[in-house]
Amino acid sequence: MDEALEKLAKLYESTPLLVAVYDSFDRLRYANAAFRSAFFVEPDEMLTFADLMRRNFKARRGTVISVADFEEWLVSTQGRRGKVGYRAFETDLWDGRWFWMTETVRADGWMLCVASDITDLRPDHRAVRQQRDAAIKASYTDDLTGVTNRRFAMARIADMLEHRTGDGQSGCLAILDLDHFKQINDRFGHHTGDMVLRDFTGLVRRFVRRTDCFGRLGGEEFALVLPDTSEAQAVLIIERILSTVRRSRPLGAQTDLAYTFSAGVAAARTRDTVTDLYARADDALYSAKEAGRNRIHIHGAVQGPTTASG
Ligand code: GH3
Ligand code: MG
Ligand code: MG
Repeated sequence: MDEALEKLAKLYESTPLLVAVYDSFDRLRYANAAFRSAFFVEPDEMLTFADLMRRNFKARRGTVISVADFEEWLVSTQGRRGKVGYRAFETDLWDGRWFWMTETVRADGWMLCVASDITDLRPDHRAVRQQRDAAIKASYTDDLTGVTNRRFAMARIADMLEHRTGDGQSGCLAILDLDHFKQINDRFGHHTGDMVLRDFTGLVRRFVRRTDCFGRLGGEEFALVLPDTSEAQAVLIIERILSTVRRSRPLGAQTDLAYTFSAGVAAARTRDTVTDLYARADDALYSAKEAGRNRIHIHGAVQGPTTASG
């Protein structure tokens, strides 16, 4: 026990926690180094709480007390101080630090104060952090559909190319473009066009695996980044998406509003840049459009009679 108390005293001297003990007359009977430094107390100085606070108030140091009349503040503070067995509150210091202050009071009136630095958790800082996180999220998200945007998708293509394995077959990029989307806008209005875009992204998201990335490149054009996926697997996934999209009726079953998309798929090659891979996927998309739309083309492959049915 003696050894433990001795160690405890030494630990208190080295901890950044502020530790102090006041007696029943609110006189400071013990303060560790961190406490003395925060409140400008000399070693072995036995001040009362009132004297300590008054002295620091005049010197504009220690606790920030934002009142004109210190004595009035003291009265109200002493009215609450040491009245309950335990209380905790936040307090800020002139040096900019913010503390979580606890007071534990014995029935005989002695009080233990322990305070920890929570500057990093300050509510205003927390709000800034939350705003920053929201801004970062917004910078990667497409407003209309909520899927990731071009910036994010392009970065994932770069990631996929960086992580490629020795044979260069690290995955596929598909570009999906809605067919005759301009006609949908012209016939049903821009608002319905927006609805179709959201319908589309909602459907595709169901097929996107954890490691894939689906993003809006712009307008009615989307990227599907499929790491560790062969051309055959990629086509299978996109076939499933296409047959789902063909069946979709964004305005309800009664209307004849239906839509399709065309897709170009390209597999990553050794030494591909993002631009190289993107260009090949785009070529394949162009060829799918030329062949009549509503279908999937693989770059460089001889296209079968393929998928225009459905
Ligand atoms: P294709 O089959 O060749 O792709 O024909 P398309 O009509 O889909 O392609 P085109 O590039 O001619 O037209 C795309 C249209 O997409 C034109 C543009 O007004 C519309 N568009 C782009 N962004 C949005 C959007 O956010 N909302 C809506 N409603 N329309 C958009
Ligand atoms: Mg289009
Ligand atoms: Mg387009």
